[in-house]
Amino acid sequence: MDLVNLYSDTQTRPTAAMRAAIAAAEVGDEQRGEDPTVTALQERVAALLGHEAALFLPTGTMCNAIAVRLHIRPGGDELLLARSAHPLQFEAGGPSALSGAVMTPLDGEHGMFTPHALADAIAAHPAHDRHAPRPRLVGVEQPTNMGGGRVWPLQQVEGVLAVAREHGLRTHLDGARLMNAVVASGVAAATWARGFDSAWIDFTKGLGAPVGACLAGSRELIDEAWRYKQMFGGAMRQAGIIAAAGLYALEHHVERLAEDHAQARLLAEGLAGLPGIELDPTAVETNIVIFSVPDAVALCAQLEADGVRMGAIGADRVRAVTHLDVDARAIERALAAVSRILLAGRRRAPTSNRRST
Ligand SMILES: *Cc1c(COP(=O)(O)O)cnc(C)c1O
Repeated sequence: MDLVNLYSDTQTRPTAAMRAAIAAAEVGDEQRGEDPTVTALQERVAALLGHEAALFLPTGTMCNAIAVRLHIRPGGDELLLARSAHPLQFEAGGPSALSGAVMTPLDGEHGMFTPHALADAIAAHPAHDRHAPRPRLVGVEQPTNMGGGRVWPLQQVEGVLAVAREHGLRTHLDGARLMNAVVASGVAAATWARGFDSAWIDFTKGLGAPVGACLAGSRELIDEAWRYKQMFGGAMRQAGIIAAAGLYALEHHVERLAEDHAQARLLAEGLAGLPGIELDPTAVETNIVIFSVPDAVALCAQLEADGVRMGAIGADRVRAVTHLDVDARAIERALAAVSRILLAGRRRAPTSNRRST
């Protein structure tokens, strides 16, 4: 039987229709601005995010890397972001290694910090203090990834932007899954991206494309971003071949994200009733389900043997992500497998999952 792959929404394969769009793509040299498909995608994303211009890049990681490089100056500039944020946890130290950023983690619920927490962190490093790093850039991840796919309330984002503005800081929106937040909230992408100096979306998460992401900002910022696209080795040639998948995804794979969210909620509701699992299904807003279990590594290993893949993201935390290759039957199979494993474990060790209270 096919693997039920809930490891990540990056695991999707391009559909037959997306492959047809890729095969039919008109191409040229993107570095000369002569690839019509890349140009169309950049214009589409700029309009979508309500910014002047956009730049097609191979990965979301490069979007973050280039944006940070553009905002952070040498000399101890500080990037403030959630402790669970991607640039801090999963980019090989890139912001520090490539841009010299001091990364200051902010704590908060589900990967979201408050305007107040940001103001406190800025106050801890006042401009007149020669000993302190210089607060310079604030990063927001919308929706959160390791925070459990949570959508920041618009008011909270606007509060964070207001604090940043008040202190003259730059702002960056990591919108790897922004379209999930758009579909879940009904708030337009341009509204979420409003007020940020840079913002980007990924095509390889729930949107289901094989490669690519797009960074947006002012025309001046994007002109300068081209320099770092070249420097970091992200300048391509007939990139319309992959940009076509991004265009196809924006056309055909946005509204269907609602199905992924519904499947994630079903999965969460099923999991929440199983012994040993701690999970609040009402907290599942998009396509990511994170739950606590006594031994995450053992559970994932047993699931794998049963044809279901989830990711252990800590000793006692598991992440499952829905996407376009996961249907209702796959969710049923995943739930049946988790249930079988946990109930068998309970029979073997009757007290192991019981609370001491
Ligand atoms: C996946 C992800 C990235 C990196 O994107 P890639 O295209 O995999 O390089 C950055 N930020 C968040 C929140 C992500 O989920």
